[in-house]
Amino acid sequence: IPQDSNAQGVVDQIERQFTLSPETLIDLTKAFLNEFELGLGSYGHPMAMIPTFVTGVPDGTETGTFLALDLGGTNMRVCEVVLNGDKTFNLIQQKFKVSEALKSGEATALFDYLADSVHTFLITHATTKYASPHSVDAGAAPTGDIVHLGLTFSFPVEQTALGAGKILTWTKGFSATGAIGNDVVKLLQDAFDRKSMHVKCVALVNDTVGTLLSRSYIAGGSIVGAIFGTGTNGAYIEEVAKIRKLANTPIAEKGGYMVVNTEWGAFNNSRSHLPFTSFDNAVDRLSINPGFQAFEKFISGMYLGEIARQVLGSLVDAVPPILFGGKGTPVLNAHYGLDTSFMSNIETAWDDNDHHTIPSLDAFDQEQLHPHVRAKLDRIRQVIVEDLAFQSEKVTLKDAAIVRTICYIVARRAATLSGVALATVLVQTDYASLPGQAKSLKNEKETINVGVDGSLIEKYPEFEKDLRESLRVVVGEDVEKRVDIGLAKDGSGVGAALCALQALKQI
Ligand code: ADP
Repeated sequence: IPQDSNAQGVVDQIERQFTLSPETLIDLTKAFLNEFELGLGSYGHPMAMIPTFVTGVPDGTETGTFLALDLGGTNMRVCEVVLNGDKTFNLIQQKFKVSEALKSGEATALFDYLADSVHTFLITHATTKYASPHSVDAGAAPTGDIVHLGLTFSFPVEQTALGAGKILTWTKGFSATGAIGNDVVKLLQDAFDRKSMHVKCVALVNDTVGTLLSRSYIAGGSIVGAIFGTGTNGAYIEEVAKIRKLANTPIAEKGGYMVVNTEWGAFNNSRSHLPFTSFDNAVDRLSINPGFQAFEKFISGMYLGEIARQVLGSLVDAVPPILFGGKGTPVLNAHYGLDTSFMSNIETAWDDNDHHTIPSLDAFDQEQLHPHVRAKLDRIRQVIVEDLAFQSEKVTLKDAAIVRTICYIVARRAATLSGVALATVLVQTDYASLPGQAKSLKNEKETINVGVDGSLIEKYPEFEKDLRESLRVVVGEDVEKRVDIGLAKDGSGVGAALCALQALKQI
């Protein structure tokens, strides 16, 4: 098969499209700050800047036992969280399957199932002294305390209080009837009450808020919680006075601070600033929500594999072919066929510790490869053969080099843009300023704690390093060095428990 002798030129050109200049990063931060302002000022913007009614964050000294229920991921989870008051906690959890029939049946049946699951958990796993309605004689007063529960509900809701919020729409394959427009906390509480359970749902929690609170508990304070998993989103602590859409409400009169859920995945849905390539356009056009969640589509685990797949496909289809001799596989050819973990595997196989750079593609034609580099490329080749189901002889070391470069540039752009989101929060909260902007900064010596969760930031090699590099461009090295990015493991469980505790404090 004739190979394109200009492969290097084509790959270089793609790399240029995926590389963001310092000026672009600063421009993007300014556009981001504008959208923050719009969302804080009034309702109905893509960057929703949702008030969460959480007006304080933990410092690690909190104690108590709480339940958490997490609905919206692959499984439903029930946890018991014991806060020890010394920044540590104990967590016991049980996972439950939600059947397709429950997802699409009557909402009461779904919420009865949630209540039954909590009951099962309480009588089999929990350490809490719990007055099971079934262990109480008819007519006898129940013994044991009421257990407080925080609900992590990862669907669009319009929150009206810490413990109340209307379901706006279902997503992720749920369609239960009789739920839309109703208060999700009430739906759950009614189910507990139907079964005379001594459980009270006091808090409705977004997963970003859970991440922020749980990092705050572990680290003794935190100002941001951010998710880089299937999707991306962030929450941060804002001055109530700056949440102008709350003006003239009782909460605004109290002043102070409130956690805001930004919904930053929707940044720049207008497409005026993000550096769309033809590959991004294809990802968006073929997605279930074209025109929405623009920022998320550049960043999150759900899309990175698909962006890389679009780029690799264009190289396979090039005339003459640049990749895999012009042949695909069913995995490579399927929409969403490449998972982001494939990219992670490719980058792990390269393992940059010995600082070899990917050789110029011309070197392959001249067989000028260092044995170390050859060995590393062969590891990548094996990942490709295995993950994409290629016949071994169909993948060359040159193919391996190209695939590694494409994965690297797609993931680096995602991490760089993630740094912009974080920089925006730091500038918005006066922990940082933009280059040339004169303002006095908060706590110029202290550590700035940021809680994160999600497979992308947890597992993708160098994601945090690249994120920090872009943060440094926008806010400067002095601020960047003080940013402590920490994983908030079990954020949805511990965060929901901490939110329940916060709800009791705020009553
Ligand atoms: P969720 O956000 O749904 O709670 P995760 O944080 O585990 O769950 O994120 C899942 C996403 O992470 C998926 O889109 C998947 O492609 C991606 N992912 C899974 N494993 C890895 C990995 N090793 N490296 C990078 N991304 C990964």
